[in-house]
This record gives sequence, structure tokens and C-alpha cells, in this order.
Amino acid sequence: MGEGESPREACGLFGVWAPGEDISRLTYFGLFALQHRGQESAGMAVSDGRNILVFRELGLVSQVFDEATLSTLQGDLGIGHNRYSTTGSTTWENAQPAFKTDGTRGLALGHNGNLVNTAELAEEAGRRGGATTDSDIVATMLAAHIEDGLEEAAMAVLPRLAGAFSFVFMDERTVFAARDPHGLRPLAIGRLPGGFCFASETCALDIVGATFLREVEPGEMVMVDDRGLRSARFAESPRKALCLLEFVYLARPDSRLYGRTVHEARREMGRRLAREAPTDADLVIPVPDTGHSAAQGYAEVSGIPYGEGLMKNRYVGRTFIQPTQSLRERGVKLKLNPIPDAVRGKRVVVVDDSIIRGTTTRQIIQTLREAGAASVHMRVTSPPIRWPCFYGIDMSTRQELVASDLSVEEVRTFIGADSLAYLSLDALVEATESPGEGFCRACFDGLYPIPIPEQAGKFVLEQRPGRS
Ligand code: SF4
Repeated sequence: MGEGESPREACGLFGVWAPGEDISRLTYFGLFALQHRGQESAGMAVSDGRNILVFRELGLVSQVFDEATLSTLQGDLGIGHNRYSTTGSTTWENAQPAFKTDGTRGLALGHNGNLVNTAELAEEAGRRGGATTDSDIVATMLAAHIEDGLEEAAMAVLPRLAGAFSFVFMDERTVFAARDPHGLRPLAIGRLPGGFCFASETCALDIVGATFLREVEPGEMVMVDDRGLRSARFAESPRKALCLLEFVYLARPDSRLYGRTVHEARREMGRRLAREAPTDADLVIPVPDTGHSAAQGYAEVSGIPYGEGLMKNRYVGRTFIQPTQSLRERGVKLKLNPIPDAVRGKRVVVVDDSIIRGTTTRQIIQTLREAGAASVHMRVTSPPIRWPCFYGIDMSTRQELVASDLSVEEVRTFIGADSLAYLSLDALVEATESPGEGFCRACFDGLYPIPIPEQAGKFVLEQRPGRS
């Protein structure tokens, strides 16, 4: 939920081929626009056509790069990556782009997603016990096939990957972008005056002055170099299954997914929630930042005034990087503070995008009560999250999901709200105005579009909840 408790991050990808442009600066700005997708590490690789240089470090984009670093990263093409670790730990070695070289040829790769056949691939890549990330395994596999070039290597390796992946990768001359056959993670193509770029979200295209061309299609690999923009299909797409949580909270509101502005979709989620779960109240407030659009929609339909009741301190590090539950619980208090004069004596509707563990929601409600709210009504613009994600969002066990074993009424009691309502799954999908496009919604309904690992599957099935 909200900014506080979440395991919410994906990763941010950017790639650019534009000779004569300031590649490292474009990549820096692209990554900066995608900072919300991962804050553990940032990195970029650039090539001048002969050599690939890589720089990566733990920290935010603005901490990792400075003028001096960018000035050493000159070239005609490059890729960049913001990481949130869904596999492997937070160490420098796991920062991306991953880089491989045989001494004469090199390749760099950035990954967003999570593969589900990693053990099998690691064995094949001869790195069992060595590589700690999917990305390193895939880079190793590509390097092993590179004798005929990276395009051929990718066409050999990509069909063997199972799970969620959007990749940007490059050799000395060509930038590649590829998306898994279900299209679980987004990846867009932009046109620059002197070239092309790729980005996880369209907001990064906007910030570098690129115009949106189209999305990379599921099962497609797109390449750009001095021969222009080319496309190859490495797998058929059985059906599209974009992660529904991209619409709910992962993507930035100014990004577009399936042609729809995320802000508009979230606003519509709020409107539909107001129709499905009306309440008598004096004030509608969002949990900043992701609840803003939806809270506006809720206020619009309900006629209840919209206002700010919680302030986010932007200078406190994101709570998710704190490793323990108790630190997370302490962290959120630093980050979200109520505005007592705004909520005192009022019946308050709090609109948020999701509830994952429930601990942050409980604290928000408690602080609003302490600030004098007469009652607190929680409204959530997604259904209860009851199933783990195996495709790159860091909620991999059912134990960490408060709704996995509790009814809505039990969750309401746990978080201490006067009332609690979730948006229905049908209304959520309809609010995207893209119901025909296809979504992964497995964390809501348990129907996984890509078979999950045997061990994990067994674990999930054994703990299937009685209610749906
Ligand atoms: Fe997204 Fe949920 Fe599917 Fe994971 S399981 S990809 S979080 S919709």
C-alpha cells in the first residue's frame, strides 16, 4: 500500500542509440524519470562503437552520477538501469547493467522482471552457485552464444527464458530491447531527432524529448543501429498479460500504458470505488503520492470535498530499503505525517492504491485518529492481494500478504478502520479502458499466466485460501 510498506518496485530500463547526442546525459535523465521503479542501484553502459564503458553504483541516480562521471561516459549508444532487487541481494555486484566480455567483444544488459526457470538456466550457463541474479545468468548465456553476433545470440537465448522480462541490452554498435511473450513488464519505443530510445515507461521518453512510437510487442525484439530500427520475433505471444499493478501503482501517473494515461485510469478507479463503496464523510484524502489521482475521482463522484490530510516528507529514504518489519514500521512515521487542522473532528475517507502487509495502513489510521479525525474510512483502488508474485514484484510469499488469510472484515479490524472497502477486480480492469488487451492479475485471483516453479506452486496450492 501507499508509499510506506510496499514491496512495490519493479526496475527501470532505458536505452538509446543517437550518434552525436549526449548519450550519458540522455540516459541519466531517462533513469531519473524512472527513479520510482527502483532506488537500490543505478548504472549505465555506453559505447563509442569500439568499446563499452560501464558505471554502476548503489544509490539513487542523482547520487550515483555526477558531471565528472557523465563526461567520461561518451558514446553513440547506451543503456541504463535502476534496480530494485527482486532476486539476489543489495550488493554492488548485483547492480546493473550486467557486463560480459571475451576480451574483444562485449555486451551489457539490464533486466526488469523475474524469470521462473532460473535454476535450469543457471545450470546451463554453468553458473550454479556463482550468479546471483537472473540478469547475470542471461548475460552469461548471451556471451556464450556471441560468436555470430549478439542478434543471433539473443534469438537463440530469449526463447528459452520463462517468466517476466523486459530487457535492454547492447554490444558495441547496436541497442536491443526485448519483451517476454506475455508482455508482463512495459517497454516503450521513442523517436529522437537523431535516433531512437527505449524506456520502461513513456514518462522517460517525455523527459528526453522523444516522441512515443509504440510499445515493444510481447515476444518481440527491436534493434537499432546505423542500419536503422529493425524488429524480430523470438516467440509467439499466447496472450498479453501486462501486470495490472503497473496501472494501480507501479507506473508514474504521467506515463501511458496500452495508450491510456495512468493518471486518468487511476482517477476512474476512484470514481468506480465511490460508486461501489460510498460512505458518509466530510473529507477525502489521498495517501501520497500514488493515491492522489484516485482520491480526486472518489471525491468527484461522492461530492465529498477533496483535501490533503497527510504530508509526505520527501527527504526521508524510502521505507522499503529498511530491512526489518520493525524498522519499516518506524520509518513510515518519519515519512507520512498527518495535518491535524485538516482532519480534526472530520469523518475522513482515506484513498490508497493497495494494502499489502497492512502495517502501514494501520499506522496511518492510528496517526489520523491521534490528529483528531472523528472516523477513518479506508477505500482501496484494487482488490485484496492474496497471492504472491513470481514475476518481479517483491511480494513472493503469502505470509507477508495481510489479505491472504483474512476476510475483509478481519483486515478492517487489523488496520483499525471504521470501514474498509476494496475496488472489485472487474471495475479495476474496466477503469484501465483496456480490458481487451489482457492483464496479469494473479496476485488478486491466483490465476498465473506463466506456470510458476514447481516448489513455489506446491507452496501456493497447499495454502490456497478457502474464499476467493
Ligand atoms: Fe503484477 Fe500481480 Fe501479476 Fe505480479 S502477480 S505480475 S504483481 S499482477
